[in-house]
Amino acid sequence: MAQNEEKNIIIMGPPAAGKGTQSEKIVETYKIPHISTGDMFRAAIKEGTKLGLEANRYIEKGQLVPDEVTIGLVEERLKKDDCKKGFLLDGFPRTIAQAEALEKILAKLGKKITAVLLLVADDKELIDRIASRRVCPSCGASYNLKTKKPKVEGICDHCGEKIILRNDDRPESFQVRLDDYKSKTMPLVEYYKGKGLVREIDALESIDTVFGHIQEVL
Ligand code: AMP
Repeated sequence: MAQNEEKNIIIMGPPAAGKGTQSEKIVETYKIPHISTGDMFRAAIKEGTKLGLEANRYIEKGQLVPDEVTIGLVEERLKKDDCKKGFLLDGFPRTIAQAEALEKILAKLGKKITAVLLLVADDKELIDRIASRRVCPSCGASYNLKTKKPKVEGICDHCGEKIILRNDDRPESFQVRLDDYKSKTMPLVEYYKGKGLVREIDALESIDTVFGHIQEVL
């Protein structure tokens, strides 16, 4: 991809593959907004909005929020000015129906997806990783008790809040999310492969090595 081209990127991969961490690095480096549907839903839940209440009924069980709710949310976000030079979609699309809706939304805006980054990792590694993942309930920063510890144990580096295990990272919800990824999201990989957009990245390397590979393909 040329340096001056729009960077309209989707990052995909199973839950806990490191999408959040790599996304932070991508948006900082390429100065594009990070559009994470999971983060948007969590913010709405925290604010107690109608959208938040609706989304939370699904999220707390590890289920996908219905497409009509999610697609509308993303469409509004992509129309904003800060998406003109590009954007990083994280957690969306998650189904073929969402991918098709995305294509229509982008066509209306005169845009196209330019790359789909696919982080690849096996289930056993993901289950190990999830047990040590923590997040900040206040600012959304993510940590790993083995590989990305906060400076002060149990406390968010950015805002000083106590970091926690996400409800949907508990083993029973995590398994539902992993199964959902396989049944609903894996077909998306084939969809984007068919369009020649998929760039596979080994997610089991260190954070910096994975990011190095991402920079090579962008
Ligand atoms: P994430 O942080 O991306 O793992 O998202 C957390 C939860 O938000 C998911 O388990 C879903 O319940 C919901 N969610 C996020 N993105 C989507 C999406 N594109 N479609 C449906 N539900 C979503």
